Amino acid sequence: MSSYWNQRTQKLSPYIPGEQPRDGEFIKLNTNENPYPPSPKVIEAIKAAAADTMRLYPDPVCGELREAIAGRYGVTPEQVFVGNGSDEVLAFAFGAFFDQDILFPDITYSFYPVYAGLWDISFRSIPVSDDFSINYKDYLIPNGGIIFPNPNAPTGRSLPLEDIFAIASYQEKLGKVLIVDEAYAAFAAGRVSAVSSGGRHNLLTVHTLSKAFSLAGLRVGFAIGSEELIEGLNRVKDSFNSYTLDRLAQAGAAAAIRDSDYYEGITAKVIATRERVVATLIAQGFTVIPSEANFLFIQAPGKPGPEFLVALRERGILVRHFNKPRIADYLRVSIGTDEEMDAFLAACGEIGK
Ligand code: PMP
Repeated sequence: MSSYWNQRTQKLSPYIPGEQPRDGEFIKLNTNENPYPPSPKVIEAIKAAAADTMRLYPDPVCGELREAIAGRYGVTPEQVFVGNGSDEVLAFAFGAFFDQDILFPDITYSFYPVYAGLWDISFRSIPVSDDFSINYKDYLIPNGGIIFPNPNAPTGRSLPLEDIFAIASYQEKLGKVLIVDEAYAAFAAGRVSAVSSGGRHNLLTVHTLSKAFSLAGLRVGFAIGSEELIEGLNRVKDSFNSYTLDRLAQAGAAAAIRDSDYYEGITAKVIATRERVVATLIAQGFTVIPSEANFLFIQAPGKPGPEFLVALRERGILVRHFNKPRIADYLRVSIGTDEEMDAFLAACGEIGK
């Protein structure tokens, strides 16, 4: 604590991101990055953008990128907002749509309570079931707004679209917003996405290029929703920073969005690897929560989470542990290449004995 910090800063409890070690030190399965490189077209676009024009500010409304996203998702550019990673989009969304008494699951993305703290928004956490599934009926109670990821993080479990639309309809009657964070939706069966929103004006979906698009290093996220929600996000953004996405990010992201063939291919590979790893872990006696994301939430037989974490680290494998009630014995393991996952499975074989 410093006396130079204002009251607001003193009260903050910031998010702690997963470790980013130096290249090659570990098999890195701790931050849900994609193990495959971005499309070559993305690198070409970034190189082409790294030109004399860098002296000029970037397009403040990210027109080309928003058009590319709109084209791909079947919406208009006015229904698209882009930001510096979906974390920024989420931060703006909390500021734009939530006042007090919002709801999110007790086991979920740990940035949500941090944003609530930043904007001084009170929240209630709704317990997920013992099997970590979200029961949509638990959310049909008076509230000031709802947010959760689908698939949820760090469990990987997902909710059917009907349940999401049932919550959105309830929220519509309350005059409140539902935000569905679809960071991992590309890895879900049938690629379940609430983007269409069933025509509801109060449903915002948030997306990232960090996972399925292999661009965690570029920092690009976006939201899709009704024009009035997007205008709300723009009001917050333009009261904060006109140029949240630089020229390289805008060019690279637009190229990524346009190259769906490449990304379909690597997404299918990640899903196939996930299914193979799940089957092997279950056969070895591990508890594995059914995942529709690019990570698994697992428990080693008879081994507390922190010990499992250390045992993997000693074998050169980094994964994520959350020291929180209900999940302290679980580890979240990102899906790497087949080779990386073979090394992980070999380590688990030793540890699980
Ligand atoms: N939402 C969820 C559920 C996440 O797990 C993450 C990644 N930590 C994000 C959003 C943020 O991703 P990014 O800021 O890289 O787009």
